[in-house]
Amino acid sequence: MPAPDATQPLPPSSSSVSRRAFLGRAAAAVGVTGFLAACGGGEEGADGGGAGTGAEVIEASSCLGYATLSDSDQQIRTSLNYVDASEVADQNCVNCRFYNAPDEMAPCGGCQIFAGPVSPAGHCTSWAAIVGA
Ligand code: SF4
Repeated sequence: MPAPDATQPLPPSSSSVSRRAFLGRAAAAVGVTGFLAACGGGEEGADGGGAGTGAEVIEASSCLGYATLSDSDQQIRTSLNYVDASEVADQNCVNCRFYNAPDEMAPCGGCQIFAGPVSPAGHCTSWAAIVGA
């Protein structure tokens, strides 16, 4: 098997996996608190009075890819307090800079911070506004 050509860009899926792997290692290396600070997340609204973006609440556990998540993948989701229905006003996965919209009609999107599907109406403590929005 020939050695990979380091001058060529990785295909999109490999690049995405590498980013996840990097972020996961970064979270483990600096601890969740430091990781959240580095990502600009960790802040929640004072009232917690509903999501307010009209995004559809989908159970991520019903989406493709959830069942095959590893224990460490699940641990990262839990440590970042991921929920399928945001309780923070105007903060959902769909208006987060780390959201990957689903392909075609798939109900769940993805997150650039951790592996597995996320609800469009979801939220975690790494939420960050879309740049320029
Ligand atoms: S889970 Fe949702 S809110 Fe959290 S970083 Fe990923 S896309 Fe953003």
